[in-house]
Amino acid sequence: MTKIFPIPAFEDNYIWIVHNDQQAIIVDPGDAAPVIQYLEANNLKLLAILVTHHHRDHTGGIGKLVELYNTPVYGPRREKIPNITHPLGEGDVIEFSQLNFRFSVIDIPGHTRGHIAYLWDGGMFCGDTLFTCGCGKIFEGTPEQLHHSLQRLASQPDDTLVYCTHEYTEYNTPFALICEPGNAALKQRVIDADALREQNKPTVPSTIRLEKATNPFLRCKEPEIIQHIEQHLGVKLPANDEQSAFSALRKWRDQF
Ligand SMILES: [Zn+2]
Repeated sequence: MTKIFPIPAFEDNYIWIVHNDQQAIIVDPGDAAPVIQYLEANNLKLLAILVTHHHRDHTGGIGKLVELYNTPVYGPRREKIPNITHPLGEGDVIEFSQLNFRFSVIDIPGHTRGHIAYLWDGGMFCGDTLFTCGCGKIFEGTPEQLHHSLQRLASQPDDTLVYCTHEYTEYNTPFALICEPGNAALKQRVIDADALREQNKPTVPSTIRLEKATNPFLRCKEPEIIQHIEQHLGVKLPANDEQSAFSALRKWRDQF
């Protein structure tokens, strides 16, 4: 049976590993050591490495893993990442029949220029684009690109599991609550996340349903959020303009 497990790395990264009792693929190995440890402890053969974007905390372990295991590396075509053997972009499909996994690749620029996501029936590896109760910072793209990318991820079925790459729920919820203090689902999420973290359990994966109900960056049409953006930034947003609200919200988050 195939399972997906978060290997903790650095302060708050997760390196996702998909494996059965023999073989594994890993996603965004920022560090090789915890991956090697997990593979050896579980006696797994590494089939492939998947990468969502070029940031060091997602790619730093690739060199060492390739050296050790001579593994193929799949990653964004539009970014410069050493050791990539299979460049990918919008529309590509990759299949790992040993694990019964088939990924569709989509381009989700915004956090970085060439960021990609891996979607499958039931889940997504979305790197640093959609986070639990938040979204990635805009380092290379535009607010329009990031907004569009998030909308595409949010358009996946409600039950889709969101495997992002940081433990950020408790970091993101205080801001979300200021944006939308009247959101009952959000208040419940804070309670649930606190309970998980107290037991040192991850708050990921989340679901598209939960993100749509509580993540302010997917809720820029909500009057309460718009009102708080306007109040805080001292601006008047154009009516029925979700993009403007999103851009303003991202800006406010950066100052928070
Ligand atoms: Zn990043």
